Amino acid sequence: MAEAQIAVIGGSGLYQMEGLADLSEVRVATPFGEPSDVITLGTLEGQRIAFLPRHGRGHRISPSEINARANIYALKLLGVKQIIAVSACGSMRESIAPLDIVIPDQIFDRTKGRPSTFFGQGIVTHIGFADPFCQRLSNALLEATKTVGARVHSGGTYVCIEGPQFSTKAESRIYRQWGVDVIGMTAIPEAKLAREAEICYATLALATDYDVWHESSEPVTVEMVVANLMKNTETAKRIIRAAMTMLPNTDSCGCQSALKDAIITDRTLIPAETKRDLGPLLYKYLTPNA
Ligand SMILES: [Zn+2]
Repeated sequence: MAEAQIAVIGGSGLYQMEGLADLSEVRVATPFGEPSDVITLGTLEGQRIAFLPRHGRGHRISPSEINARANIYALKLLGVKQIIAVSACGSMRESIAPLDIVIPDQIFDRTKGRPSTFFGQGIVTHIGFADPFCQRLSNALLEATKTVGARVHSGGTYVCIEGPQFSTKAESRIYRQWGVDVIGMTAIPEAKLAREAEICYATLALATDYDVWHESSEPVTVEMVVANLMKNTETAKRIIRAAMTMLPNTDSCGCQSALKDAIITDRTLIPAETKRDLGPLLYKYLTPNA
């Protein structure tokens, strides 16, 4: 039974959603361990949503420690079909000012060895990831962002670094030469796993500061970054509320059938234990002649 078709994954600054009706909390167990926190279920503008803070409430989990497989799997178990991911980021372009919103359409992965697939253990899949974000959901977020009056950039490349340290100036300059637009630490593996789980996934990237490449007249202070983080969080909440009435019908979206031609392994050779653990992801494809 679907508990919620829409999920919001909150990033730095966004640990809870106010204004939800019919609230409940669920603790979801997965074959990949525990999600970052209990998941809040509620109704927002008539839509059932699931909310999960990816760093846990109180910001206890570093980007490298996030159990993204458990997070995405838990949302899949709740019936989620669309994920709105909220992420604080640094700006890599003069034209993207702090407090601007970017809805990225590309990712460059600079993480190091994070578990980033559900598969293995006797089943091999190769999903398409040329377009890592759902275009339909991104378009809806763009329209929602315009209605709340925030400055928004449609498209852009998000470079995802391992962290938890910020970049060196040399790294930051090189990323700029590569043509990236924003820098963060959490889009990978979330976006990959959402695609493997056949869930539409789009990101609201909220610029808090210019990364270290920027020769600013004013020094970047922690106070400034935290103040921007708080303003961005309020903006993100308004965008999410506005988006609830604009969400696309994703039933026919390609994200929802990403595994269709991606499973390479002979179905008869997939171990029973793997079939059991991955049943919620694979059930459409394990029937004979599927
Ligand atoms: Zn989609």
